[in-house]
Amino acid sequence: MNAKTINERLYKAKQDKIKVYPCNNLRASNLGHPCERYLYLLIRHWDEQKPYDVGLQSIFDLGNTIEEHTIKNIKEAGYEVITPTVRSWKIDNPLITGREDIRIKDENGELLPVEIKGLSPIEYDKLNSVEDFLKSKRHYVRAYPAQLYIYMYHFNKERGFFALTNKLTGQTKFIEIPFDYEYAENLLQKAERIYMALETNTPPDSCDDVNVCENCSLQHICGQAKRVPADIELDDELENLITRKQELSAAKREYEDVDKQIKAHVGEREKVITGSYLITRNKIERKAYTVEARTEYRLSIKKL
Ligand code: SF4
Repeated sequence: MNAKTINERLYKAKQDKIKVYPCNNLRASNLGHPCERYLYLLIRHWDEQKPYDVGLQSIFDLGNTIEEHTIKNIKEAGYEVITPTVRSWKIDNPLITGREDIRIKDENGELLPVEIKGLSPIEYDKLNSVEDFLKSKRHYVRAYPAQLYIYMYHFNKERGFFALTNKLTGQTKFIEIPFDYEYAENLLQKAERIYMALETNTPPDSCDDVNVCENCSLQHICGQAKRVPADIELDDELENLITRKQELSAAKREYEDVDKQIKAHVGEREKVITGSYLITRNKIERKAYTVEARTEYRLSIKKL
C-alpha cells in the first residue's frame, strides 16, 4: 500500500458511484434551469446524458455531508426539524416532483420548507436575499429560488428558508424567502410549455448563455449549443476578480483623491502633527534613466 494505490482506489470508489438516472418529469430542483431546451431533452433523452465526472461526484457527496452538518447546526440552536419521510411528492398539472431537504418548526408549530446549500466562502458572503440569488453570475445559483418557490407552492406556505453553510468554516446562516406568486406562476407556465413541447415533439429554442451550454450534459445532442470560439478560453474565476476590481474602483478613486488633498494640504511644510499622526516631508533625488525598448501587453476588459 502506498499513496498512489490509495489515491487510485479513492478515485475508483467515486467513479463507481457515477450513474445517469432516469428523468421522466420536471422536478423542483431542475425547473429553475435557464434552458427550456435542456429540460425538454433531459426528459426525452435522459439516457443520452454525458455522465458527470469524479470531481462532481465528490461535490455531490460533500453536499450530503454538508446537509447532515447543517441539520446538526440547526438542532444545536434548539429548533425542531422534520426530514421528509417520502421519496418525493408531486404537484399535478403540470407534473412537478419535489422533495424538500427539511422543514423547520416555527414558534406556532408551523412547518416551513428549508433548502440547504453548501457554498464557497465567497458565495456564502454574497448571498443574503432572494435578489442576491437571482442576480448571481452562476446560473445554478439563480435557479435555487425556483426550487424553494415550488416547495412553498406545494406546502401552501407564505415563506421558506435557505439554510446556507459555508463549506470552509462550516457556519450556517438562514435567508428568509417570501413566496412570490408571480414567480411561481411563471414556473408553472414554464413547466406547461415544456410538457406541451414534449407532447408535440417540438424542442424549445436554445438558451443564449454560453456559460450554460459549456457545462451542459446534453450539449452533444442539442444541435443549437452556444459555443465559445476556439481561440477564447472560458474562466469563471477571472469573472469574480474583475467584478471585485470594479467594486473597488470607486474606493480607489476616492483614495487617490484624498491622497492628493493631503499632499496639497501639507504643502511645503516639512513637519506637521495632527491629533494622531506625524507627517514629515522628505526630499528624494531621483536618478534619470532611459527605459529600454520592450514589448508590453495591455488588457482590455469590456462588458459583454
Ligand atoms: S447545449 Fe445549451 S442550448 Fe443546448 S440544451 Fe444545453 S444548455 Fe440548452
